Amino acid sequence: MKTKNKIILLVISIIVFMFLLITADMIYNFREYGIKSIDDKAHAIAKTVEHSLTSQMVTGVIQERELFLSQLKNIPNIDNIWLSRSQKVVELYGKGLSTEVIKDNVDEEVLKTGEIKKVIDENIFSQSFYRITIPYKATSKGKINCINCHTNASEGDTLGAITIQMSIDGSKEIGIKTITNTIVIALILTIAIIFILNFIISPFLSLFDSIKKVMNKAQKGDYSYRIVGINNKEAEDVSLWINGLLEKLESTLDSIDSKISIFLSANQKNKEKDHLINVKNTVERLSDVYKFRKTIEYDETLEEVYSRLAQVIKEKIGVENFNFFEANTQNGEIALVYKEKEIFCNIFKDGCRADRTNSMIDSTQFKNVCPSCGAHEGKNYFCIPYSISNEFDLIISIYAKDEIEVERFQKEYDYIKDYVDVAKTVIISKKLMKILEKNAQTDVLTNLYNRKFLEDNIKKISAQVNRSGITYGILMIDIDFFKIINDTYGHDIGDNAIKVVTEILTENTRKSDVAIRYGGEEFLILLYNCDDKFVLSVAEKIKLAFSRRDIQTGGTTTIRKTLSIGTSIYPNDSKDLKEAIKYADLALYKAKNSGRNCVVKFVPELKNLQHKSK
Ligand code: GH3
Ligand code: MG
Ligand code: MG
Repeated sequence: MKTKNKIILLVISIIVFMFLLITADMIYNFREYGIKSIDDKAHAIAKTVEHSLTSQMVTGVIQERELFLSQLKNIPNIDNIWLSRSQKVVELYGKGLSTEVIKDNVDEEVLKTGEIKKVIDENIFSQSFYRITIPYKATSKGKINCINCHTNASEGDTLGAITIQMSIDGSKEIGIKTITNTIVIALILTIAIIFILNFIISPFLSLFDSIKKVMNKAQKGDYSYRIVGINNKEAEDVSLWINGLLEKLESTLDSIDSKISIFLSANQKNKEKDHLINVKNTVERLSDVYKFRKTIEYDETLEEVYSRLAQVIKEKIGVENFNFFEANTQNGEIALVYKEKEIFCNIFKDGCRADRTNSMIDSTQFKNVCPSCGAHEGKNYFCIPYSISNEFDLIISIYAKDEIEVERFQKEYDYIKDYVDVAKTVIISKKLMKILEKNAQTDVLTNLYNRKFLEDNIKKISAQVNRSGITYGILMIDIDFFKIINDTYGHDIGDNAIKVVTEILTENTRKSDVAIRYGGEEFLILLYNCDDKFVLSVAEKIKLAFSRRDIQTGGTTTIRKTLSIGTSIYPNDSKDLKEAIKYADLALYKAKNSGRNCVVKFVPELKNLQHKSK
């Protein structure tokens, strides 16, 4: 119901209610007042009659009373008046006049009980009467002693009664007239109020109704509704302000949302009806993505960047089972770069469909869609390829553990792209840094680590040894009379000899060992977790293998050369890795002095050897 109608209904209800109250009160008061005045009149007449009759009795003219009583009927408003004699009076003085009889039960009751009795006969459409019957009682206390004449009566006995019947139509008429007037006034008042409401308050109430409707829509996010049909100057101003505000709000929010959401890739999905909420969501997402970017910029390694991306996937999408792979676009090589759960597909053997097709692979769309993941029937997987650069793609491979995770992923996975997009440049620069760092730590000729690598990792190796208690065997290797090769066959052939040493070292060491080109034709090997015996056996193996390997000197000729090796054990020989290396070098010096082509183990006595520090 419209507010205007509600107010009109309320006002009419109040007026009607008040009118009913006032009318009821007036009817009651008029009636009471009418009865009271008739009552007083009746009592006065009764008293007058009593005194007159008594006087007539005393003066002996009681037989003249008929004239007196008939004249009483002429008093205005008195319809009837009569007397009734009690049995005691009848016994003493006879039945009296024909009018002095008991006319009805009321007379009888009053004579019997001595109580005043009133009867009101009210009718709206016919005449209304008021009848009162008042008893006359014998008393000896007044000026005239009743008992003197009524000798058979005692004090307080009812000697007779007077009945007066009057019309109350006069007061009824006044009452009806007053009520009619009140109805007319109430009606005029109601019409006046409705008029005021309709012509003065009505435009404001319409405005209020319209504002209510428009704001209700706006509160639900629909700002397209406007206030219309207002024809009052002041109300029109208000409607124009509100419409203007809504117009501004709608266009500004639309513009903000479309302008800022271009920074996000997944801006079309999960849109709310409310533009304000869309803007808030977009800003929140932008802020999260920006914070993510700021954080990864300060991360030191690529591993840290990937684990932070993994954290986002866990927190924002709520999935737990996933891995990241890097796929080389040039040679198709695939490498695991972040592992959260076990790898559930044969990606390394069968390749990656997501990378090959450059599209998301969703097993819920097509069962067993990827042959590589085919072995895991009944389990859902989602693999999304992201192009990071021309050289490689990042593949996020997710495995959903239940249907809830499938649904959540399908709804939210677009968010990952925003994070991958901002991470791209950081990933590329971190990879570049990694390559640069590797280059700086790698020897160009042999592809072995160089001394910089050793310098960069000394702390790491020492910490590992301190933590785990393992030992490293150290080999310091130098080609015997290498200079002669250069001098005899030239520098290139010298390089060949160095490469041959590299081959021998690679063949005779494990992946866990570290081979370093320490100087020109000098090599340092750190043998992971080994004792004295093992160190010497590896050294002997290397020495022997090199001495038996042909070195191409150009054309068809080959030469063979020998190696000298000094060994030490870290941390057994020294707690300081640098010092342990120096001790291996001293042992090498000793090997050179001992005729070369031999392995010498460091012993503390060698500390006294005078050797030029390398
Ligand atoms: P020794 O048995 O005492 O070790 O004799 P040696 O001739 O090997 O003596 P030394 O270690 O002093 O000689 C090292 C030479 O290796 C000197 C340098 O010209 C040469 N050299 C250093 N780096 C390279 C390189 O990268 N390529 C070639 N071809 N020669 C190098
Ligand atoms: Mg040498
Ligand atoms: Mg040398």
